[in-house]
Parts: sequence; structure tokens; C-alpha cells
Amino acid sequence: MRLSIKSTGTGVLCGCDNVLQIEKETAQDKVIALAGNPNVGKSTVFNSLTGMNQHTGNWPGKTVANAQGIYRYKDTNFILVDIPGTYSLMANSEEEEIARDFICFGEPDAVVVVADATCLERNLNLVLQTMEISGRVVLCVNLLDEAKKKKIHINLGLLSQKLGIPVVGTSARSGKGLHGLMDTVEALTQDDIETAPLKITYGKEIEEAVTMLQPAIEQILGKRLNSRWVALKLLDGDESLLTSLKNYLGKDIPEDETVSARLREAKEYLEQGGISNESYRDRIVTQIIETCEAIGREAIVYEEKEYAERDWKIDKILTSKVTGIPIMLLMLLGIFWITITGANVPSELIANGLFWAGDRLMEFFHWISAPSWVTGLLVEGIYRTLAWVVSVMLPPMAIFFPLFTLLEDLGYLPRIAFNLDNFFRKANAHGKQALTMCMGFGCNACGVIGCRIIDSPRERLIAILTNNFVPCNGRFPTLIAVITMFFTAAVAGPFKSLASALTLTAVIVFGVSMTMLISKFLSRTLLKGLPSSFNLELPPYRRPQIGRVIVRSILDRTLFVLRRAVVVAAPAGLVIWFLANIQAGGMSLLAQCAGFLDPFARLLGLDGYILMAFILGFPANEIVVPIIIMSYTATGALTDYESLTQLRALFISHGWTWLTAVCTMLFSLLHWPCGTTCLTIKEETQSVKWTLLSFAIPTITGILVCFLVASTARILRLA
Ligand code: GDP
Repeated sequence: MRLSIKSTGTGVLCGCDNVLQIEKETAQDKVIALAGNPNVGKSTVFNSLTGMNQHTGNWPGKTVANAQGIYRYKDTNFILVDIPGTYSLMANSEEEEIARDFICFGEPDAVVVVADATCLERNLNLVLQTMEISGRVVLCVNLLDEAKKKKIHINLGLLSQKLGIPVVGTSARSGKGLHGLMDTVEALTQDDIETAPLKITYGKEIEEAVTMLQPAIEQILGKRLNSRWVALKLLDGDESLLTSLKNYLGKDIPEDETVSARLREAKEYLEQGGISNESYRDRIVTQIIETCEAIGREAIVYEEKEYAERDWKIDKILTSKVTGIPIMLLMLLGIFWITITGANVPSELIANGLFWAGDRLMEFFHWISAPSWVTGLLVEGIYRTLAWVVSVMLPPMAIFFPLFTLLEDLGYLPRIAFNLDNFFRKANAHGKQALTMCMGFGCNACGVIGCRIIDSPRERLIAILTNNFVPCNGRFPTLIAVITMFFTAAVAGPFKSLASALTLTAVIVFGVSMTMLISKFLSRTLLKGLPSSFNLELPPYRRPQIGRVIVRSILDRTLFVLRRAVVVAAPAGLVIWFLANIQAGGMSLLAQCAGFLDPFARLLGLDGYILMAFILGFPANEIVVPIIIMSYTATGALTDYESLTQLRALFISHGWTWLTAVCTMLFSLLHWPCGTTCLTIKEETQSVKWTLLSFAIPTITGILVCFLVASTARILRLA
């Protein structure tokens, strides 16, 4: 089965630019759009139905990802198109526009709207809006298992009767009900089921206006689109739909004389009835919400309000003005503490094992009498850098990522955004920036891609430009190593990890404060503007699946980041070995470069080698510490500094003080984004200017902050 995407052109299906067109293999193939609010289990349904038969890309002309997959049922191929998760189809954002356009112009044979059974009433909004565009809708009420636990009963039969479309109940995570869903979709596409979608009536004036306009539109559209819905949208003056319609039809509907005359009359009629442009949309939205509530009252029975109340009670504590932020900080502290404590032992074990293997490798090379440069290059250069990266990075990542994913699965991250919303608003930025910041903890490149959830281009740019102020996983090991070596040495036994975790939390809080400060600075200067309003959905708390979380975070995040680190560290080890071993004028190239950088680096509280390590670490931050170690060791190769105590001695012998440690941490937090992040920023912004700025802003901030800290400490003779 071949699946291809044509982005534009005069396809057989339709001539609409910028709408994904699905090429079927045979005329019998059916195209099914999969819609739903975010976090309702849409991806779970998609993955369960299509398995490995998937294909991803972007929506034509957009940065939003698109996934398609195929499943076969009763000898028919069903091409499932996963449209973006949205709360409505009013085209308030790029995602909503894409979803609306695909349902409207992509000509799917059916639309499946996945809804969350635990908050079905709220989800019905999207269902009703979809039904206004297409009559061939199936409602998939998912998360029935969760609803059952919360003692929420949904009368699916009555719901189907009220809505006039087929309704199927599922618990997609355990696969329950999916067979029924496939069966219903098949029956609907074979015309074995007839639908009679509920028509929402919007009151006398609006209905009258629609009656005036609809026949003229129907003349042009025929049966191609729902003329009632188009009439409602024309009355709304929805510009984005008009553009899409023009692309689809090849002509501008309002330019048609009859339509424009009727439209004028209908609008005048509305004005006379006291319905202005602003109140028009309000009435539409209110009517839809009231209909959702009315249906909900009949078809949903809350046997115990307890569960909803439980969430509400938890939220009262977790998002309260007084306790919200302290709890958030405690949680961060807890995660760091578990990460640092838990990583100690495995880190040492892995290091011992890998360095032991390195010694054996060395003996082997001696035994086969390999030339010393081969041994140096392969063992001292590549192998030892890799051993350091793996032993230092793997354990904290394998602990931190699952913990973080656990919070995500519990539904806590939107609460973080909620708590920080006020601060971001004060910085004239977007509350959702907090979520993109959370993504940056794992990897700044992912954080930058995550900024797509912010609709306003101005606020999205601010989020992209400041994402680097939260340390990614490549910078965590540097911070943890420096903290453990220099700041917790004096603390005894069990409190050591706690002291490290506290210091790390303080560093992160500093990074977040810098994010706000720079965001504010940007909204006052380069990116002037006021924050846009948005609705932040607080999804119900959900018990996470521990096993799945671990597998997902290990596979998706840990191994991904580790692979990248290893791929970069190996060649970097090679380059550094060369730099350290090629002599010119009695000094190694590395020493010469470091000597050149030294005077400037000293101003920042660093030394030439540290600054050099940051520069050479541009491909991946993970290799900064290995480079410093390698530069300090006289042989120009990474020796067995597997314990942090040995490392501390090495660093102190090269003149490190607490000030060097502080400035190294600050510079690690505030310097240019890594190569991958820069490339991602270029792709996301499509602009060299913003990419350069995203490089310059943290770098200049870092230089200024380090200079200030170092100078103050020196003036006060603290160091
Ligand atoms: P999407 O954002 O709509 O694509 O949602 P996902 O498919 O990513 O699911 C969100 C969360 O809900 C995940 O943790 C899923 O494991 C979980 N989930 C999905 N379907 C079900 C279900 O039927 N029952 C339960 N208990 N959890 C589900």
C-alpha cells in the first residue's frame, strides 16, 4: 500500500492549496480524519489501529507535524489521518485552522472525534463544531475505564440519539472497544448507517440571516460543502476560512454578486436586531456551550462528584497562590535529590567498568605492538571521552527522565504553566512558555520545537530565544559534577546529596528568573507587544502507567540523547587529542589556543581551557567537562579521573577556586545554544537573524553575568 502526500496542485480530489491530499491506491480505500481535544488518547487510538503502518511528515506549508497510518478492516483499507489536537475549530490557531481545513476540504470519508469520557461535556464542543461541517462523524468516547473509576456513567445510546451520529465507547489503552470503532467506521463509510446530525439553532435573528444567505451559497457550492455552515462563517467574517475557501473553489465567494448582496442584507438585518460583529460570535459560542451542557445533563450521570472534587481539592493546593510555587520547588528539589543520590553508585560502577576495560584495551594495543599514536588516538582520545560521557550521563538521565515523564503523565505540567502564568504575563510573554521551558530540561532543541504550541508569533519567538536558559540534559552533568566537587565537599554524608540538590535547584531558579527577565527585555525592545490571552486546560489527574513511562523515557529520551552525545563525543575526542598532541613552537595547539583565550576568560572568572572547552563543546554540551579534564592532564589524554575527588584535586591544581566553579556553572547555564538547537531554531524561525540573535542573547548575558560576579568577588577580595 502506498501512501503519498501531495502538497499542492490540481489533484483529483480537490484543487485546494495547503490542504493535505491523500492519494488512495484504489477507489475503495477510505480516508478517515482522527480529531479530538489534546490529551484524550487520540495518539493511543491512532497507534493501536495502525500499528507500524505509519508515515509522518508536516502539514503542507506548515510546521505542524502530520501523521498518517493505514489499517485494514473487512477487506477495505482505511487511511487514518491524525489531525492536530484542538479544543475548537474556530481557527484561533494554526492547529485549529489545519484541523478545520482538513475536515472541510480534505474530503475525508468519515471523521472520528475522540473525546475524554471523564470530561465529556467539555469535549462535546469540538464534536458539535465538527458535525456542523460534516455529517459523517463518529464519536469515540475514550477513557471509559477512567470514567468508570470516577463513577461517571455515560449513556452512549442516548448520546448517539441526541447527537444523531454513531457513538462508540473505548478504553484505548487496553484496546477495549477498538473493534467496535472499526466496525462503526466501516458501516458509516459503506452507508450502512445513516446519520442525522443535530442542528444547533442560534436564535431567531441569526437563523433568519442564515436563511437569507444560504440559498445563494448553495448555488455556488452545490453539495460540496455544508452551505449552512459556510453561511454562518461568512456572517462571522471569518477571514481565514475565506482564504481557504478561495483556494478550494478557485474563486472568492463574497465576490459573487448574489452572495455579496444577500450577505449585505443579512448583516444589516443582524445589526438591526442588535447583533454586532462582536456579539455574533459570542452568541454562537454560547449556544454551542449551552447545547453541550444540555446533552451532558441528560447523557452523563456523575454518581459521585467525589472524584472531580478530589481533583479540584488537589488543584486548590497545587495551584494556589500561596502553596503552588513552594510545592513546585520542593518537587523539583525532590527530583534532583533522587537523581543525584541515585546516580552516584551506578555512575561509579559504570566508570570503574569502562575504565578497567580501557586499561585492558591499552594492554591489548601494547601487546600487538601498535604504534603509540594509534593507542593514543583510539584509547586515550576516543575511548576515554566516550567512557566519561557514558558513565557521567547515563545514570542521571535514566533517573531524571522517567521521573519527569511521570510528572507529565500525572497531568502536573499544565499546573506548572498555570503557576508561572502570572510571572510570564508580567514579562509580557505567554503562560505556555513554562511548558516549553519544561521541554527544554530534556533538550533545548525539543523545547524550541515545543514552542509551536504558542500561537502568537511574537510570544513564540520570545520563547524560542530564551529556551536556552534552562539547562538541557547535556549541561546537567556539568552542573552536577561542579556542584558535587566544589560546593558540597564540606557537607557530611547523607546531606551531601541534599546540598547538591539544593544548589542545583537554586541554579535552575536563577535560569528561570533569567528567562523572565530576558523575556521582559525582549517585549520592551525587539519584540514589543502585550501578552495574548489563552485558555489553559487543566486536564484531570491521571494515574500514570509506571512501566510505560520508564520504557518511553528510556527509549525516546535517554537513548536518543545518549546516542547524540556518543556520536558527537567520539569525533570530538579525536580532534581534541590531535590539538593536545600536535606541538607547535614547543607548545601543544590546545595550550596555544587556551593561552590566547586566557586573558579574556580570566575576566569572566574562567580560564582559557574552560572557555576553549565551551567553544569546542558547541556540537554537544555533554563534552565540555571531558575536554577540560583532557586539557588539564599533561599527557593530553583523558586519564583515569573517574572519581570526583580525584577530579577536584586535578582542578584545584590548575588554579580552580569556588569562584571558578561558580562562573563555570553560570557560563554553562548562560551561553550559546548547542549546534543542534541552533539548527532547529533556524528551521523553526526560517530566519538567520533570529538564529543569530538566539546565539547572541544568552552569550552576551553569560559574559555580562560572569564578568559582574568575578569582578565583584575580586573587588571584595572574596576570591
Ligand atoms: P493525545 O494527546 O490525545 O494523543 O493522547 P495520548 O494518546 O498521548 O494519551 C494521553 C494519556 O492518556 C496517555 O498517558 C495514555 O496512556 C492515556 N490513555 C489513552 N487512552 C486511555 C484509556 O483508554 N484509558 C486510560 N486509563 N488512559 C488512556
